[in-house]
Amino acid sequence: MFVSVIIAAGGRGVRLGAGEPKQLLAIGGASMLQRTLETFLRAACVNEVVVALPSELVDAPPSFLRGNGKPVRLVAGGTRRQDSVAAAFARTSPEADVVVIHDAARPFVTESLIERTVAAAREAGAAIAALPVHDTVKQTSEAFVARTLPREQIVLAQTPQAFRRDVLAAALERARQTDAEVTDEAMLVEQAGFPVRVVAGEPRNVKITTAEDLRAARQAAADGGRASGRVGNGYDLHRLVEGRPFVLAGVAIASAVGPLGHSDADVLCHALTDAVFGASALGDIGRHFPDTDERWRGAAGLDLLGRAVALARDAGFTLVNADAVVIVERPKLAAYVPAICANLAGTLGVDLGAVSVKAKTNEGVGAIGRGDAIACHAVAMVTDAP
Ligand code: MG
Repeated sequence: MFVSVIIAAGGRGVRLGAGEPKQLLAIGGASMLQRTLETFLRAACVNEVVVALPSELVDAPPSFLRGNGKPVRLVAGGTRRQDSVAAAFARTSPEADVVVIHDAARPFVTESLIERTVAAAREAGAAIAALPVHDTVKQTSEAFVARTLPREQIVLAQTPQAFRRDVLAAALERARQTDAEVTDEAMLVEQAGFPVRVVAGEPRNVKITTAEDLRAARQAAADGGRASGRVGNGYDLHRLVEGRPFVLAGVAIASAVGPLGHSDADVLCHALTDAVFGASALGDIGRHFPDTDERWRGAAGLDLLGRAVALARDAGFTLVNADAVVIVERPKLAAYVPAICANLAGTLGVDLGAVSVKAKTNEGVGAIGRGDAIACHAVAMVTDAP
């Protein structure tokens, strides 16, 4: 089976009110059109893609439209949707068995939905993805309800819509002879008298039409898509000696011993600083704040942590949460944990609920167990979401 795909990206996105064509607006690091195209190129059943674009984009296409081995052809779209689709259809291979049409403004289409729609079209001649309606559906007349429609008979049409090539050719030919404007290709195929099978669509396969849709799509992409959550890991250890202050996240802890070091030897902040640098792939605490540099000699751990967060922010990362385990035989830290967490939340720029600090002993084992040292393991998560 040979499958051609037409991506309808000819619109100029007037309803979205954005400066650039809406199909080029970024969602989590890639434009709607790029996300859409890449999914179709990944789908095993797809052999080629034709993209209908505004003519200025055909003349100067973005680099992602070069494709990845499967042919990608660009055509200038027409005024109406069916004109764009007809122009693209003319560039599909004559050997195609099935032609799929999809809106560039549905960037969350999945390979599975594409495969299911194509398989149904191959069997039935025409198939569309569609969702059932859960709300009660009313037909209205001049702001009054005219009647309640049987919702079990109603579906909301999505794309992809797939057609045997001869079926779509007949429908497009018929459309050429009328002035009516259609909002999807299935409508043309229905009008031409062909049956159209309904395939279960996907709720995530939304069409991005309004600024609110765009915000929601960016949020969805940040939650599970290309915008990434990145985790970083940090570790620190200091000797414990008599007569040194014992400071964790800027909180002074009553103790006969304290961590030895040039600075306040705040193991918790040092481990977290490395975790933030790790999550942002920015190196480590020794690279940014070498203790051979006078500027950092004696610097408070909390201050260094704040600087690390600022450097991560400059690199485009926002802190999501942090978690740490402090391992020390004594003193007991439980009473200090709320104050420690409050200081960390302030410095990290996150809510108190996004910070966690636990304390453990080493069960008397090794240097930490003998009370000669304190150690800390920490993780921090950052995101590049907008
Ligand atoms: Mg240290």
